[in-house]
Amino acid sequence: MKSKLISFKVARKDARLYQIWEVHCSREDQKSFLKTLDSKGAIIISKETQSCLELLVEGSRVMQVEKLFRERNIAYDVKMCDSSSFPERRTVARPISSGRIRSPTKRTLDWKDFYPLHVVYNFMTLLETTYPSTCTVSVIGKTAEGRDIRMLKISNSDAENTGVWIDGATHAREWISTSVVTYIADYVARNFTNMGANYTNKDWYFVPVVNPDGYSHTHTTDRMWRKNRARFGNCITGVDINRNFGYFWGRGGTDHMSSDPNHLNYRGLEPFSEPETTAIKDIILYSGTPFKIFLTYHAYSEAIAFPWCHTGEPCPDYVNLLEGGTAMAKAIFQTSGRMYKVGNFKDIMYYASGTSIDWSYGTARIPFSYLVELRSKQDKFLLNREEILICCKESLSGVKAIVEFADKTNCLNCTVNAKKLRK
Ligand SMILES: [Zn+2]
Repeated sequence: MKSKLISFKVARKDARLYQIWEVHCSREDQKSFLKTLDSKGAIIISKETQSCLELLVEGSRVMQVEKLFRERNIAYDVKMCDSSSFPERRTVARPISSGRIRSPTKRTLDWKDFYPLHVVYNFMTLLETTYPSTCTVSVIGKTAEGRDIRMLKISNSDAENTGVWIDGATHAREWISTSVVTYIADYVARNFTNMGANYTNKDWYFVPVVNPDGYSHTHTTDRMWRKNRARFGNCITGVDINRNFGYFWGRGGTDHMSSDPNHLNYRGLEPFSEPETTAIKDIILYSGTPFKIFLTYHAYSEAIAFPWCHTGEPCPDYVNLLEGGTAMAKAIFQTSGRMYKVGNFKDIMYYASGTSIDWSYGTARIPFSYLVELRSKQDKFLLNREEILICCKESLSGVKAIVEFADKTNCLNCTVNAKKLRK
């Protein structure tokens, strides 16, 4: 298919907005040129298939990138990201409406909008104050820029409990993941005393913002920032937190993992070099709770993915994880009609090493380890505010399904089993 070269201008005031381009690459040299641009930060490659690359181009760079493409005969389409219609091809690009960086004036979390870090942290404190016998907020780490990484634990303190880990905003720009984690935390906190054994026999650990520096940066400066704010030399290049975990760290292919600090998927200098990954590792390994479920929320592919990410080989619990993932997907579908695909990460997403679910499954031996890609394939990282609440509701249904499924399923790769065997 031959694409048209399209000419347009972006107003100076919208310079921080992004456009999404789809490039059909017929030649390898064109592909590698795009990857060089990506590694230099001129564009962001957000998706890659055999014949097609999807790019984010910052408004201020549109003219420059357009010129480079024209010189090299690289054809592309500008894909709209307007929430009012499904992504048809448009011939004129408009600024992405929800890409504006904007701080809501409200101070209370209500799942009708996206909120900055202090509002999320105030919400956690409010739950602790309202439900002091079950809710505890603690600081589990400090970021490179000195921010707290805060965790909310909800528990009846029964020593026999197993653990559920639920986190969001590992990648800064995936704001909907924080909405979903706070929504689930709110539901569990409010209903805990009246809930069935499937819920009260668990210690619930919520980290709504794994990456507070990056998250803050997306609210103030660069909406499309993904990594943390780690320094490399004199520059803040950031590390991709979901490539910094210690299981199969740094091994294998280079498309979605890199040793180059400027790359979108920079893995860091060594495994657990970052405060965010270290904080998660320490809680999971040393809290004394045998974790049975690990859910990390991302956006935007609408998928429920499980280990492995570093190989296409099935993990020992493949069948259990597929069944559990399918139970989640079914619950989501019954809530909203949305269809999430299910499968092992390598098969349904792409190759990646040093991810949190490979580590939680491979090292921490948490059998029900899932990376959930939330909405939306349509709006990508810039989800329409009107979809926040329904996305939270469908996700809560998914959590209920996996909690019940995990309790009735014997797993092979299981810290709970290992603990019982040692007794
Ligand atoms: Zn992500």
